[in-house]
Order: sequence, then structure tokens, then C-alpha cells
Amino acid sequence: MILFKHSDALNDYLAKSRRDGKRIGFVPTMGALHAGHISLIRASVSGNDLTVCSIFVNPAQFNDPADFEKYPVTINEDIQALEEAGCDLLLLPSVKEIYPDGLGSLPHYDLGYLESILEGKFRPGHFQGVCQVVDRLLDIVNPDMVYLGQKDFQQCKVIGRLLAITGRTEDIRLHIHPTLREPDGLAMSSRNLRLDTTARAKATAIYRQLMDVLHQLQPGSTAPLLEAATSQLVAQGFRVDYVAVAASDDLSLIDNWDGKREAVILAAAYINGIRLIDNLLFNQSLNS
Ligand code: AMP
Repeated sequence: MILFKHSDALNDYLAKSRRDGKRIGFVPTMGALHAGHISLIRASVSGNDLTVCSIFVNPAQFNDPADFEKYPVTINEDIQALEEAGCDLLLLPSVKEIYPDGLGSLPHYDLGYLESILEGKFRPGHFQGVCQVVDRLLDIVNPDMVYLGQKDFQQCKVIGRLLAITGRTEDIRLHIHPTLREPDGLAMSSRNLRLDTTARAKATAIYRQLMDVLHQLQPGSTAPLLEAATSQLVAQGFRVDYVAVAASDDLSLIDNWDGKREAVILAAAYINGIRLIDNLLFNQSLNS
């Protein structure tokens, strides 16, 4: 694996590879890699000639400065895991490399409804930061395919919209990969490293509540199920931002389910000050 710290050097390398007819897969990450990230790398390795991973803890997307400060960094282990998974190129840029003009005057993206609900509502500015970094990274890498995790379902929608508003939908395809979980169901996440033993034992409750909603959902009002799931989480010590049912195509919230619309159940909740998110889809394909 070749490690790049400078975006120009990577861009030049990839321009040559592209001229040689190589197909490029890209996996953007913030590091502290786990098996979920590595599943994206492996999917890219099997579908492309070259796989590029980026590790960049993006200050622009943290609405909570303490969350940014405490974000786990495990760079030596990450490099080893990427090597083992067959990743070809790693971009490890500085903040200055990604935002040469600083964080003060970054572009604004019209994300519409996506920015006013769920993660958009509870993390103001977060998706602007995601778009700012992904837009910049796509300029540097110019990939054929971008690999994203279902774990961040709304982020997948936001990046789809970013491709549309920046005129890239013809050139770049998104591949959404299913969420990898721990044996007890907890969605793998870099933030899980920050859970102490007690919080880790409780954290799986988010997945269990999502499963309960999934199994009990009937046509009609979704409110009683969502309220019950929220109460269960609160009783176990969580501070709940939301438990919601939304349409899986445009993420419009579903208060009354017609029994047909393809849906996703999503939750975000804090345990011991650490914010965890998860979601479950009804039986449906992620990449139609
Ligand atoms: P992050 O480093 O958290 O920004 O995540 C980088 C990419 O890995 C994003 O596309 C995430 O959705 C994806 N990802 C994170 N956790 C998982 C997981 N448990 N399973 C699959 N993909 C994941």
C-alpha cells in the first residue's frame, strides 16, 4: 500500500492510473477502522483495479467539539488492517491539505429536507461538513465507485444528493454496504471504543429496540411503537434523540404506514455521553 499525505501527489498518481484504464474504488473514512470499514475495502478491492482509502477526522462535520477531541485514533492498526485487506492507496491528509483556505469560508450545499430531519435536525451543520469533505475528496480521487455503509443511512442519501448537485451522477456510482454488527447485534462503530464495560453491555439495546419495531410494525400509526421503543431506551439509561420510521427512498418520516411503502427504522441515542446511531431496513435491496 502506498501512503500519500499530499492530495496533489495522489491526484497525479490516480490520473496516470486512469489513463492506463484502471477502475478506481474509494472508501472515505475517519479511521479507528473496524471490520465494518474493512468490509467496504474488501468490496472495493473485488470490484476495482485500485482501491483508495482516506483517513481524515474531519473537523467540519463535528457539531460537538468534545466529540471531535475524543474521536479515537488508531493509525498504526488502521494501516495494518488496510494492508491485510488489499487496499492499494491510503490518503492521510492534514487539515490544511483538505481545507487550504481554512474552515471559515467553505461551500454551502442545498440538501433540502435531508438537513432538517433526524441527524440533520439533531446535528446542525453536520451534513454540510460531510459534503465539504466528500466534495473535496472526490475532486482529489475522482473515483468510479464510492463505498459507503448503511450504518450511516442518511449520510448515504446526503452523498447521493451531493453527487446530483455537483453534476457527478454520471461519473461516480455509490455502493451501499450492509451494516456489520458485533455478535450481540450492536452496530460496529469507531465510537464503540469509547464505551466502558457497563455502557458497552447496554449499548446493544438500540439494536434490540429497532428489531422490536421491525417485527411489530403494522399498517397504521407508527407512534405507539416508536414511543414504546423510546421509553425502553430511556428506562435503560439512554438519552434518545429519535426513534423513527421513514421511507427508505427519500427519508420522509412515516407517521402512518400504509403497509407497502419501503421503510427504514432509525435511532440515535446517547449512552454515558456517547452518541450511537443505527437503522434497519425492511427486506429490500440496498443497491437497486
Ligand atoms: P466513518 O469512519 O465512521 O466515517 O465511516 C466510514 C464509512 O464506513 C462510512 O461509509 C460508514 O457508513 C461505514 N461504516 C461505519 N460503520 C460501519 C459498519 N458497522 N458496517 C459497515 N459500514 C460501516
